[in-house]
Order: sequence, then C-alpha cells, then structure tokens
Amino acid sequence: MKGLPSLERVVVVLSRFPGIGPKSARRMAYYLLRRGQEATGELIDALEGMRAQIRSCEQCHNLSEAALCWICADPSRDRGRICVVEEPSDLLAMEKAGLGQGVYHVLGGRLSPLDGVGPDALHLASLEQRLMQGGCLELIVATNPTVEGEATAHFVAHLAQPLVARVTRLAHGLPMGGELEYLDESTLYQAMLGRRVFSLDSCD
Ligand SMILES: [Zn+2]
Repeated sequence: MKGLPSLERVVVVLSRFPGIGPKSARRMAYYLLRRGQEATGELIDALEGMRAQIRSCEQCHNLSEAALCWICADPSRDRGRICVVEEPSDLLAMEKAGLGQGVYHVLGGRLSPLDGVGPDALHLASLEQRLMQGGCLELIVATNPTVEGEATAHFVAHLAQPLVARVTRLAHGLPMGGELEYLDESTLYQAMLGRRVFSLDSCD
C-alpha cells in the first residue's frame, strides 16, 4: 500500500521467508496490525529471545541454547558414529526418522563455488579436528542428494578417509535433487540402512 513505507518494509522482509510470497506476507502484516500492539510485541519478544539464546553447539554446530546441544550432551549416544549433515534441519529429519543413535557434525551448508561457498565457509576444519582426536569408527556422510551435496560428500570423504576406519554414505535411491528435510521418514530410514562404504574411485 502506497504511503505506508513501514508496512511495506514488513511485507518485504516477510516475503523473503521460504514458502511465503508477497500475498501471504501482506496477509501476515495485516494480521499483526489487526491484532494490535500485543501481538506485535509477542512476536518481537520471541524473535529477540531466539536471537539472544540460540547459538552453535561447540562440538557439532547444531543449534543449541547451551555450550553443547541436547545430542552432544546425551551420554547414551554412540560417539563412535558421526553423521555429517548440511543443516540443523537435516539433523532433525534424521532424528525424526528414528536414526538418532550416534552423534552429528553440521557443516552449515554445502559447497557451492558459484555462490562463493568454498570449504572455508563450512565447518570442515572442526570436523577434521574432531576426527583427529580419534574414537570415530564410522563417519556417515548424509549430505543432500543434489549436485552440490554430492560434491560436498566427496570433499568430506577425502578429508575423512585417512582419519576414520569406515566412511559411508546414504544408499542411492534417494531422489536426486531432493532434500533430506522433505523426504518421508521411511525413505530416509531405508537409505540409512542401505548405506555403503564411500568409494572415491569415480572422482580420482
Ligand atoms: Zn552438538
């Protein structure tokens, strides 16, 4: 709406959210205005709380409100099995599929040279350090089945193979171009069960 730049600013910000187009963004902004100061205040408080509280787990880079996330802090987890994922949302997908026996390492993205995302932009140095400490018997590379996810998986495998006895990846059969986050739980579960030892022959 012309003449209301503060409203337009909210619409622009909200329309950047995944799955939210300009129309939905506008509906959300009007909803907040209709609900009055209280609703807006509630949202602002929740956002500020999230910004102040949430940080990256010191061990695995999962989202956390403490130094260690709930998984790294859980003594019943198998620390000999580390699963490498791109994002915290992928970790949650693995957990929801009932695959949460081991621990994780969240890369914080995937290699994407065209977007300027090189190895230094991901949590690879901390992964290498973690592996050098020993104790990891299997590293499961569970990046997304996309071209960039595959490239990232190969990079991780190269880095890990001298340091870990067994480097595995999820079974093929995952839809190429898909995202772990949106796979149904049984597909992801099957892919995990069918995981196989990483072979770098194809890219050497
Ligand atoms: Zn953690």
